[in-house]
Amino acid sequence: MVAVYPGSFDPITYGHLDIITRASKFVDTLVVAVLNNSAKSPMFSVEERIVMLKKTCADLGLKNIKFTDFSGLLIDFAKEISANVIIRGLRAVTDFEYEFQMALTNRSLNSSVETLFISTSTQYLYLSSSVVKEVAILGGDISFMVPAIVGDEIKKKLEKIKREA
Ligand code: ADP
Repeated sequence: MVAVYPGSFDPITYGHLDIITRASKFVDTLVVAVLNNSAKSPMFSVEERIVMLKKTCADLGLKNIKFTDFSGLLIDFAKEISANVIIRGLRAVTDFEYEFQMALTNRSLNSSVETLFISTSTQYLYLSSSVVKEVAILGGDISFMVPAIVGDEIKKKLEKIKREA
């Protein structure tokens, strides 16, 4: 089974890593795909996000994972890489409506690709990349939200933004 786990991953958090670790156990290959969305103004470039994803997954010893970026329709990308499953993580109930709508839309576009939801581990219920960035900008502790190498990259990025301001 080839599965694709799409997202912004701006940057990767322990919540994403939890989903990647658990999904990697029941799929043959997991393709972690970073959405290249020019409409959003991200903190990290797609390349920077992929480097952080690779490093953190390598540290966990995960071997059946590939990393790439994609743009356009997810369902077209899934077909391109012969993925038959889309993995999504579910956090608080607020995720549900959007995720359900996306899953139904994707199935109506291509019924041979199934969406599988993995529910969050409770300690990551409210963890998102946006929360990490907000807390970091305000000088709070993010060490329990992201791996140390990601925390270091956020720090460097914020220092750079400050210098250029
Ligand atoms: P988006 O695709 O909305 O930009 P992200 O890139 O942050 O969101 O997340 C990609 C996927 O990972 C989504 O399915 C999202 O629900 C899931 N996810 C993000 N954070 C967590 C978490 N803390 N626990 C479980 N799943 C999560």
